[in-house]
Parts: sequence; structure tokens; C-alpha cells
Amino acid sequence: LRRNAGEAEFHQAVREVLESLGRVVAKRPEYLESSLIERLCEPERQIIFRVPWTDDQNKVHINRGFRVQFSSAMGPYKGGLRFHPSVNVGIIKFLGFEQTFKNALTGLPIGGGKGGSDFDPKGRSEAEVMRFCQSFMSELYRHIGEYTDVPAGDMGVGAREIGYMFGQYKRLTNRYEAGVLTGKGLFYGGSLARKEATGYGNTYFTRAMLQTDGNDFDGKTVVVSGSGNVAIYTIEKVQEFGGKVIACSDSSGYIVDENGLDLELVQQIKEVRRGRISEYARLKGEGSGAYYVKSADGSIWDVPCQVAMPSATQNELTGKDAKTLIKNGVLAVGEGANMPCTPEAIRAFQQAGVKFGPGKAANAGGVATSALEMQQNASRDRWTFEKTETKLADIMRDIHDSCYATAEEYGAPGDYVAGANIAGFIRVAEPMLAFGVI
Ligand code: NDP
Repeated sequence: LRRNAGEAEFHQAVREVLESLGRVVAKRPEYLESSLIERLCEPERQIIFRVPWTDDQNKVHINRGFRVQFSSAMGPYKGGLRFHPSVNVGIIKFLGFEQTFKNALTGLPIGGGKGGSDFDPKGRSEAEVMRFCQSFMSELYRHIGEYTDVPAGDMGVGAREIGYMFGQYKRLTNRYEAGVLTGKGLFYGGSLARKEATGYGNTYFTRAMLQTDGNDFDGKTVVVSGSGNVAIYTIEKVQEFGGKVIACSDSSGYIVDENGLDLELVQQIKEVRRGRISEYARLKGEGSGAYYVKSADGSIWDVPCQVAMPSATQNELTGKDAKTLIKNGVLAVGEGANMPCTPEAIRAFQQAGVKFGPGKAANAGGVATSALEMQQNASRDRWTFEKTETKLADIMRDIHDSCYATAEEYGAPGDYVAGANIAGFIRVAEPMLAFGVI
């Protein structure tokens, strides 16, 4: 704790994993003897840098850039870049730590890393975003590469930002190295189904949890928080599986539409106009049954539902929210975001017998499809949407089954948190043992 003072989210993520590992080291004492767990809690490398850029009024701004290269035991570091004013080293470390186990769970050869900046893209012009991305890459390019570290998007970083960063990387290195970034546009090496992958993947995972009790999405009422990349494609897939999504949100508040959300309208507001979710209720008009609630006036988790899919940000669903959801009859919770449920909320769900899919397993579809994008880049190939989605669905089924089976094997049946932590840890631990003390 002293070594990582003030890094609350990192402590939270580490504690959650360590709580599961007692069962493993009891069976495999060599993991303890070789200090594997301590090594895994210390990133291999942390890079912090200055990002100067000029706004449209010629005012100079300074942001802070981060790349935490957590573990390369399984392959090149892999993990997204987050642009959000809340970003600090503790948040990037928690994300990189989680990413290491998540990537191992996919069964694909990728290590763990994460990065980003405290830059706030909200309200910035296209030109400002481009200048920021170019300045950010002007330092980051030294530390990444197809065989070294392969960043992708996360909050505030989508295809537009990846495009600006890829252009700058290409210009600085004079190399067309398609596999250096994932989440690219379809015209220059991007993969079909990558944009949809995290939301689709969480929906496949949550459906697999429901199916263990003979349930499915069909006819279920669902609440999805957020209205960004993960949330939008979660809503799309849940609707395809027959679920009725009645609420989503942004950081200002949430909307409810008892008739089921009009996804096209959500996409028009968030993806095309980059507007606020409050506009949904206004555009639907009075008498439509749709309404908006400011975040100061309530929580999206007050809306009764059978399946909850938190897809916005860390610690957005508290113990109190969990109690409300349980009271309202929630059956399953699939984490689309990283660590959206607090430890109190997770405990409450588990004690109440609610199926709980932790983010490092449930939202692994995004990074898995990024690895599929790398495969296509390396083989100079381009797969159809259907082929990529079929592979994604198979990977999510495998992740579900391996978490489920591992939890049973280690005496915690039905506990997907323990299953994911233990299965992910063992996959990273084995190559580390083989490499010796490095
Ligand atoms: P986006 O930036 O596309 O969207 C984030 C959404 O969450 C926005 O609608 C944002 O609203 C909302 N939000 C942010 N803070 C809050 C809050 N406190 N309360 C309610 N809503 C909030 O990001 P992504 O969809 O890509 O990422 C969402 C989560 O999923 C993150 O935790 C990310 O790490 C995780 N994730 C993403 C993956 C991906 O492939 N994109 C892969 C795996 C995990 P506003 O516009 O107001 O900020």
C-alpha cells in the first residue's frame, strides 16, 4: 500500500484478485515461493510524459500522458488508451492490472497494458482533437510496436482518435505497421465487428450465465448504463436476443423508455452528433412515455430490471444500488465496463444468488477481437463480419465455460469472480515460471 500510495482504484483491483488466489497457492505453493504474485503487482514499465498542444485560440495546454506496460508474459502488451479528465496513474494501473488477466482469459497471445491522458475531448473541435492525438503519439511512438505494445481505444478514444494517432505513428516511423494499433478504421486495416465486440461479447457472456439456469434474454427487461461504444452495442445485441432495454445514461443523467429504447435515436445523438442523452426524451416528445432523470435526482439502478449491464465507468454501481436491484428481482449482472461494481455491490449480488459476470471476463470480447484484428493484419487478410463475430461468440463461450469450470474445481461453484481471477492468473503464472526470475 505504501509503495502505491493514493492509488485507490489500483488497490481495489489488486485486493479483489488476491482474495481469490488463496485457493490457488494452497494447491501450488511454487507460485508463492517464486514471489509471482508480488511480481505481477508491479508493472514491468511505467511511462509518464508531457503532452503539449495548442487550442483553436492559440492557447497552449499541457496534459499528462501515460502508458503502463504491465505484463508481457503472454505476448506484446495490449490494452486501450483512455482520454478522460479523471485519468491518473492509479486508474491506468488498475486498468492495466485487470487487462493482464482479461487478456490471458481470451486464450490469445497478448500481454497486458493500458494508457491514456487526463485530456478531456468533450467540447473540443476536430482540429483540437487531432493536434492533441498527434502530440500524444509524438512521445508514445517510441514505446510501442507490433511486437512490443499494441494500444487500442477506451473511453474518449474511438476510430477518429485511433486514425489521428495511426497517421502520426506512420509519419514518425516511416513504416506502415498496421498491427501497431487496433480499433482502426475499416479502410486501413481495421476489423469488421471490432466496434461492436465489447458490447456483443458481454451480451454473449451474460446470456451464457442466464442459460446455466435455463433462462435467456428473451422477454427480459434490461438496463444498460452509459451510452458510449460498449453500451450502444450491448443494447443492439440484447435487442437481437429478444431482451427489452428500457434505460441508458451518460454522466449527466439517464433516460427511461418503457416501450424499449429506440437505438437508432440513441446512435444519432451519441455517435453522430456527440450530444447528450437528455436529448432523447425531448426528441421523443411528450406522451411518448420516455423521460429523463438528472444524475443528481436518482440512479439508473433504481429502474427495475431483470438483467443489469453496467457499461459506463468504474464504481458506478454501489452497494446501495445492488440492494435496490436485488429487491427489484435482478437475475444477472454482466459488467461491460471495467470494475463498475464496488466490492460491496459484488458481495451483495453473490450473497443473493444473482449471477455476476466480472468485467475481466464479461467484457473481454473487445480485446479478443483486437487480437483478431492483429491476426488479420499479420496475414494481410480481411475477414467478413460473420466470420469475426462467430469467432468472438466462440471465445466468449470458452471464457464463460473456463470461469465456470475453474470456480467449481477450486471449490467456489457459481462464483465467476473467483473463476476468472484463478483461470487468468494461472495462464500468466505458467510462462512467468518458465522464464525464471525476470
Ligand atoms: P465511451 O467513451 O465510448 O463511453 C463512455 C460512456 O459512459 C459515455 O456515455 C459516458 O458519458 C458514460 N459515463 C462516463 N462516466 C459516467 C458516469 N459517472 N455515470 C454515467 N455514465 C458515465 O467509452 P466505452 O464505451 O469505450 O467504455 C466504457 C467502459 O467500458 C469503460 O470502463 C472501459 O474501460 C470499458 N471497456 C471498453 C472497451 C472497448 O472496447 N471500448 C473494452 C473493455 C472495456 P459522458 O459522455 O457524459 O462522459
